[in-house]
Amino acid sequence: MSKRDYYEILGVNRDASADEIKKSYRKLAIKYHPDKNPNDPTAEEKFKEAAEAYEVLSNQEKRARYDQFGHQGVNGGGFGGGGMNMDDIFSQFGDIFGGGSFEGFFGGGGRSRHTKRGSNLRIKLKLTLEEVANGAEKKIKVKRHVACQSCGGNGSKNGSSLQTCSACQGTGQIRKVVNTMLGQMVSASTCHVCQGEGTSITQKCPTCNGEGRVLEEEIISIKVPAGVAEGMQLSMTGKGNVPPRGGMAGDLLILIEETEDEVLKRDGQNIIYDLYINFSDAALGTNIEVPTIEGKVKIKIDPGTQSGKILRLKGKGIREINGYGKGDQLIHINVWTPQQLSKEEKEMLMKMKESENFKPNPGKYDKGFFEKMKEFF
Ligand SMILES: [Zn+2]
Ligand SMILES: [Zn+2]
Repeated sequence: MSKRDYYEILGVNRDASADEIKKSYRKLAIKYHPDKNPNDPTAEEKFKEAAEAYEVLSNQEKRARYDQFGHQGVNGGGFGGGGMNMDDIFSQFGDIFGGGSFEGFFGGGGRSRHTKRGSNLRIKLKLTLEEVANGAEKKIKVKRHVACQSCGGNGSKNGSSLQTCSACQGTGQIRKVVNTMLGQMVSASTCHVCQGEGTSITQKCPTCNGEGRVLEEEIISIKVPAGVAEGMQLSMTGKGNVPPRGGMAGDLLILIEETEDEVLKRDGQNIIYDLYINFSDAALGTNIEVPTIEGKVKIKIDPGTQSGKILRLKGKGIREINGYGKGDQLIHINVWTPQQLSKEEKEMLMKMKESENFKPNPGKYDKGFFEKMKEFF
């Protein structure tokens, strides 16, 4: 699914000032707010779309990246539509509406029942190095509250026995007139009888026992973009729990865990591999196969290679999550010293030991390990 242009979404020019962007977003947020558009998924989508556009264009750095690279520049791996969840959006309102809450802005007091939102679900997802490198589609089982099919989510039997709550006359709020020194004031609080629903159930739906939701096991397919890392969090909008008696589902939050590979070690976008070669190969030179995240690759060991030498396989590392650039594989060469020797081997070595060529000469042949590391990072 291709995304719309953020400037187009907010209806502003590409050179719009921060103030223009804010004003335009404010208008859209009010127009498409779920409180004003109950049960209209299109409005909810537009609401989220505008919030996402504002999130990027209101941030100087993100806006610059977006101008240069487009959506790819600001949206991680483009995971699950890459949107914001409702919590993020509502917390953003602090800036837009001057500190007060959104509800306060509307003068409504208390969010209406239509924007009731279920809880987020959190899961951990273990990935192998290969999955991190190539991206993966993982299927996982989650237990989540979904709307009850029998009652359509309102909790009443046959859907017909909903009654207007008598305590609040269906408003979901109890208003009280209080006499104060300054005169009469009206205070409003959520109705304790219907918990703000405005309706009460006379006959409970037998399937969900009036809760309007049931716990279900669902197989969810998660597309993990290449280049994720331990501790990153992905989110799937609307894949969390549905609240009791209807409302928007929360999000599914997926925490990435990397399982350590036994052979290849990840260091940021680079892969580090410890290669052991024997003394003869180091002295004579050879061709040798090494593992990479893309399979085996043949490399050349030059004659006279020192232990500690680092070879670089360009582009054989991990892809950056934004899709730009890729790390390398660094091969750290270790010359293996034999630990057991036969009598003949001992004799051969004793003979070679006397040769002028066998005297170490680090100044002439090789730099120290740390000097070499500096060249690579
Ligand atoms: Zn039900
Ligand atoms: Zn009530």
